[in-house]
Amino acid sequence: MITPSADRRLICGRCLGQWTFDAIACPFCENDDRSRITSFATRDGRYRVYACDVCRKYLKAYDARNASRPVMVSVDTIATLPLDAAAMQKGYDG
Ligand SMILES: [Zn+2]
Repeated sequence: MITPSADRRLICGRCLGQWTFDAIACPFCENDDRSRITSFATRDGRYRVYACDVCRKYLKAYDARNASRPVMVSVDTIATLPLDAAAMQKGYDG
C-alpha cells in the first residue's frame, strides 16, 4: 500500500504482517532503477501496479493517498484481479 504520506508499506497476503519498504525498489530483486520499474494505476487511481523490468515480477498497491478507507487486504486482493490480468498480459509474473 501507499500511505497518505507517500511511504510504501508492504503487506504479507498470508500473515498480514506489514513493514515499510523503499518507495521504488523491487522487493523481489532490489532493483531500484526507476527507468526499469513500470508503474500503472487503475482508472480511479485507487490501485497501482509496480512491475520490475529486471526480474519481471510485479506488486499491486492500494493507494491510500486518494482513498477514503484503510487498506482491506481480503477485499483489495479481489478488487485488483483485473490488475493481475493486465500485468500478466504485459508479460509480468505474479
Ligand atoms: Zn525485480
